[in-house]
Amino acid sequence: MASTTRQTAPHAPASTAHPTGALIVADHLSKSYPVGTGEVHILHGVSLTVSEGEVCAIMGPSGSGKSTLLYCLAGLEAPSAGDVALLGRSLGSSSRTQLAELRRSELGFVFQSYNLMPTLSVAENVALPFRLRGEKVDASRVEQALASVGLGGRGSSRPGSMSGGEQQRVAIARVLAQRPRIVFADEPTGALDSKAGRIVLSELRRIGSTSGQCVLIVTHDPAVAAACDRVVFMRDGRLARQMTTPTTDGVAAMLASLEQESLEAAGAGADGGAGGGRAA
Ligand code: ADP
Repeated sequence: MASTTRQTAPHAPASTAHPTGALIVADHLSKSYPVGTGEVHILHGVSLTVSEGEVCAIMGPSGSGKSTLLYCLAGLEAPSAGDVALLGRSLGSSSRTQLAELRRSELGFVFQSYNLMPTLSVAENVALPFRLRGEKVDASRVEQALASVGLGGRGSSRPGSMSGGEQQRVAIARVLAQRPRIVFADEPTGALDSKAGRIVLSELRRIGSTSGQCVLIVTHDPAVAAACDRVVFMRDGRLARQMTTPTTDGVAAMLASLEQESLEAAGAGADGGAGGGRAA
């Protein structure tokens, strides 16, 4: 508990432990949606860098814009302003085909919907991305990925015969087998019991600590965030704080304080919390 939880401004360098290349660079991202005759502003000029060898968590009160930010960073939503560069490539200047190719070859997604094909076996599901790229299936990589999430020997099962948590682990094995440079994860341990959650987290950490790779996780779980190298906290569509060498208690306390700030801003009638943000 006496560990050195450090809080810094969100734009401070990530960590001296990760001096190498930036794999995700968000530059003043804003996102708004049309609502009725007006617009609702969800993200307000968010800038963030995630470097190779880093596992970074995004946390914040519900509705603070975490998922919207993740979708923009992953190229699944287009920002209204600003740009994202992944592996040095600007998404704003990439064609649809280039984006699809980047997603297929370099990115991994661990989202709540597993998107497993019920008619294929577990091993065939894990191997599907190889097939879609017209590549030979590397059976040992498939088996290794299944074993790493505790599903060794289950390759011939059908997803429909598995629990929700097991299906989520199959989806994670599918990502692991691809060895993507960047993994985006949205509540990756949400549907898992604590043992399976630990396995998945340690696999994500293993990816993150590999040179040339990084992981970005949206989570509401302070214990998951504490297992990351860095936690960035959002409030009302802005990056409000960040913490390196996080602890579960430190993260929980920060979250509580941001929730309180958010409530106070709403109570004071602040317009979307615009008066309270400290990061532009
Ligand atoms: P979080 O992940 O932190 O809970 P989200 O990014 O899901 O937050 O959402 C932030 C805010 O944006 C919420 O108030 C949500 O209702 C709103 N929002 C998200 N998507 C849309 C959309 N397509 N149209 C309008 N508002 C949206």
